[in-house]
Amino acid sequence: MSADKNVIKEESMIIQKEMISRNYDAITSKMETGRKMASTFVPGNLNELVRCFDMLNNLPEINAIQAGMRKLTGGYIMEAEKGGHSEDVCTYVKADIGQLGKGNIAPNGKPYPDPDVLLLSYTGCYTFMKWFELLREQYKCPTVMIHVPYQGDGHWTMNMRDYIVKQLKEEVIPTFEKISGVKFDIDRLREMMALSAKAEDDLVWVIETAKHKPSPIDAYFGAVYYVGPIFSAFRGTQEAVDYYKVLKKEIQYRIDNKMGPITPEGEMKEQKYRIVVEGPPNWTNFREFWKMFYDEGAVVVASSYSKVGGTYDMGFRHDPKNPLESLAEYCLGCYTNRNLPTRVEILEKYINDYEADGLLTNSIKSCNSFSAGQLMMMREVEKRTGKPGAFIETDLVDPRYFSAANVKNRLESYFQMIEQKRRGVKSAA
Ligand code: SF4
Repeated sequence: MSADKNVIKEESMIIQKEMISRNYDAITSKMETGRKMASTFVPGNLNELVRCFDMLNNLPEINAIQAGMRKLTGGYIMEAEKGGHSEDVCTYVKADIGQLGKGNIAPNGKPYPDPDVLLLSYTGCYTFMKWFELLREQYKCPTVMIHVPYQGDGHWTMNMRDYIVKQLKEEVIPTFEKISGVKFDIDRLREMMALSAKAEDDLVWVIETAKHKPSPIDAYFGAVYYVGPIFSAFRGTQEAVDYYKVLKKEIQYRIDNKMGPITPEGEMKEQKYRIVVEGPPNWTNFREFWKMFYDEGAVVVASSYSKVGGTYDMGFRHDPKNPLESLAEYCLGCYTNRNLPTRVEILEKYINDYEADGLLTNSIKSCNSFSAGQLMMMREVEKRTGKPGAFIETDLVDPRYFSAANVKNRLESYFQMIEQKRRGVKSAA
């Protein structure tokens, strides 16, 4: 471990930081290297397929998160609002669009190059479509949209899967061949899929370690780092596989020594509350937000957000034997593509499997895809599990909507409520 600006950084964090910075260097130097680049979204991303054509994968949501954590998004959002984007629009979109008006600078200080293709795998969030309509106007590059049928009935069918495979074969692959000049090689795709599955196995091992008491990980704030390589540009690479090897070793050490997660404030030693969290985190005040949990001894043992880039803990793996079919299944199974009753079942299962004290919903002001129905979901989970829920409101990358005092108050009363409930159960027994 090394200390940097008073934050403890484990080896896996340093490795990941280097991976991300190498990726940004590859993106910003694409004009010199001649590599082509696709812009695409995290849920439903086809990273292996993009890489199969030697292309780079640029993810606007990840860029917005990076800018949010560096507290740049407030200015970008104002810029987008000046241009007529309403206050209710997803702030990832406004951060991305506003950034274009402010030099479009990547975290390495160099300008983002224009994408060669926009690849939209539509997985349940309508904003994805609107976002790429705006980018298409801006970049005037080819756009491929894969229509992923919504799991309205809570499951997908073979017809749905075949419909996506057809689009991959008839739309996506020919477009990628034309843009990249590289012929599609299914065996190369299979090799990448095998690496994906290996890393996905390891990721599931990592997130399920939260079943231990004490939990050696934080499955919301900490999980943001743990899911990073698989949810961004590294699924299907040896780099991701190597990263998880190091991460597993660190976590195994903590399990063996009955240690808690390593947070920016240090190891979380006392774990008074085990919480499941629904909804994405706030990024502009990420460390402050995490510290509120740390100060109260609250560890997050499961979260829905750590499944947005793939629901691997429900058994899905990319499959080298059926590469295109498994890419289709992956898109179908994305969290944003699942209906509300299924999301309730997932959260209920987390409360039970991880022996959690309750469900905390972080309702994101500008993310309709997550926020719609959250209150109903929370009430339903409370009813089914008998565990108390609580509701807080923040935003993704708009600093105007993170009110530290309000969030802290709500959290403190929630933890008191859990205490009271525990006392009630004890005295009744
Ligand atoms: S899922 Fe939410 S955060 Fe993501 S694009 Fe849709 S509205 Fe924005």
